[in-house]
Amino acid sequence: MPDRLQLPPEQDFGFYQRRKHDKWRQVQPPAPPLEAPVADSHAHIHMLPDPAWELARCAANGVDYICMIVDPSEDGPAPFEDLDAWLFDAGAHLADEGLDLAVPTVTIAAGVHPHNAKLYDAAIEDELLDRLDDPRVVALGEIGLDYHYDLSPRETQREVFRRQIELAKQAGLPVALHLRGGEDPARDNAHREAFEILQEVGFPECGTLLHCCALPPDELQPWVDAGCYIAYGGAITFKNADAAREGALVVPTGSLLLETDSPYMTPEPMRGAACTPAHVIFTAAALAEIRGVAPGPAREAFLRQLHANTEAFYA
Ligand SMILES: [Zn+2]
Repeated sequence: MPDRLQLPPEQDFGFYQRRKHDKWRQVQPPAPPLEAPVADSHAHIHMLPDPAWELARCAANGVDYICMIVDPSEDGPAPFEDLDAWLFDAGAHLADEGLDLAVPTVTIAAGVHPHNAKLYDAAIEDELLDRLDDPRVVALGEIGLDYHYDLSPRETQREVFRRQIELAKQAGLPVALHLRGGEDPARDNAHREAFEILQEVGFPECGTLLHCCALPPDELQPWVDAGCYIAYGGAITFKNADAAREGALVVPTGSLLLETDSPYMTPEPMRGAACTPAHVIFTAAALAEIRGVAPGPAREAFLRQLHANTEAFYA
């Protein structure tokens, strides 16, 4: 397991920062407490060592909705089969701790990640189509182009992306996009190519979500103009993310979502530890601050709008 999956040994509902020599220091959640529940629109909770515990941690910290992202070509059937047990166990954990709280709502997005495009064949597509019939599945994703890692040939990535957009349109589902360019903005521009493919195939009527957005304003504007939803995760809290923070200012509040990409993209100040979906409250506080939304009634309205956006997108 990569370093990022390190979690503190403490089994409580708190937050921890990883220090040197495997020491952990507790971190206080955003203060004053957030005024409204928060949704995590993108989390691979099945990759965490103890998903049930993480769902309980969400409930204990005001995170009441999570969309779990599953790639049938890589993850197989297990996350679909295990989810009910995790939710049940999360409820038991909360009861054990004396907390009278509901377990979060968990929906699922299923799709073949661009890394795995080379695995896409008729059998995988059948498997994906079966999953799309699952009533818990509310989107096709994450799909797209990744020219940073190039784990599948680019032509294959483009074909599989195009194909899955078509499947989403046929199924009446929205799409969640993973787009990451390479070093050369001219030659490796995953966002521009994906936008062109979407224009050719037609943007899905049920919606398009740009996950883990880090685009500067000028590159983000066409996506905003096309009516896409834009999700921000832990990267918005990173020191070197000024361009992404500027981009976050051009998105209408009605199109903004929050996410974690758990177990990746851990927000400050927990970097170095695995990201859990409950970390989305730190990103929520950061995004409110970036947008100039003050704690209190203004932030409550902001958070309620972002929550409603998530439910509307994954409706
Ligand atoms: Zn992801």
